[in-house]
Amino acid sequence: MDYRGRFAPSPTGRLHFGSLVAALGSWLCARHAGGRWLLRMEDIDPLREAPGAAAAILAALPAFGFMADEPVLYQSQRLAAYDAAFTRLQEAGAVFPCWCSRSDLAAGDGLHRDGRCVAPPDPGRAPAWRLRVPDVEIAFDDALQGPQRQNLRESAGDFVIRRVEGLYSYQFACVVDDAFQRITEVVRGCDLLDSTPRQVWLQRLLSLPTPRYLHLPLALDASGAKLSKSTQAHPVDPGDPLPALRRALAFLGLPAADDARDVAALLAQAREHFDPARLPHCSGRSVA
Ligand code: GLU
Repeated sequence: MDYRGRFAPSPTGRLHFGSLVAALGSWLCARHAGGRWLLRMEDIDPLREAPGAAAAILAALPAFGFMADEPVLYQSQRLAAYDAAFTRLQEAGAVFPCWCSRSDLAAGDGLHRDGRCVAPPDPGRAPAWRLRVPDVEIAFDDALQGPQRQNLRESAGDFVIRRVEGLYSYQFACVVDDAFQRITEVVRGCDLLDSTPRQVWLQRLLSLPTPRYLHLPLALDASGAKLSKSTQAHPVDPGDPLPALRRALAFLGLPAADDARDVAALLAQAREHFDPARLPHCSGRSVA
């Protein structure tokens, strides 16, 4: 099977160090395998989108040497595909409308596990749609983090597929689009390791193939918290890409030669040295 990898940023802010690491890691894995590297803009949630962020991310990536092999896929243009997949879940009886509020669920651990809504239906209010999650154990082998196992009902419960606002969830859109883009390898940060069982379960329900997964160490700040675009942590400067690219290479355990004068030379050296088996195996590393 031909390798097809991807980088799938959410436009919640400009490219920052954590997303640069995910872009670099997924790009290196794809190039190492002689495969294709695709881009998907996960602009599915206008409520969390920062104005101009999608364009800024797409403009920054080539400055760091990352050029997608196919046209960018925008999730904002994929609603018909999500509607079709959602209808299939509805027809299979796999989802249910839910009017429960956070406070309805707060009595337990905040998760919903009843397989049906426990609040009275409210015709005046749009429901969220949840997946009916059975007591099922999902196991997969992460190419870097090793064997993973999660009881889906315990860890995720009846998770939301379509929100009250009518927006589809990240888990659902990601699964539909990984299949649409025929992604064979998902390389992304360890913050999404525990999302993967939900995605694997959705793939099974929708009869979609399961790609291989590799979860990179997550870039953490000095206090051990995740760097995130929405908090504007560690933005990277596409006008001066070499320093951030060197730090990202070092973060992934690769030599970042001082004699490389430009991005192309630095990435060419990185490709030569890169071996996915030698990536750092930890789930998080500090960059401070
Ligand atoms: N859009 C997600 C993010 O920026 C990543 C999605 C993925 O790689 O599956 O955190």
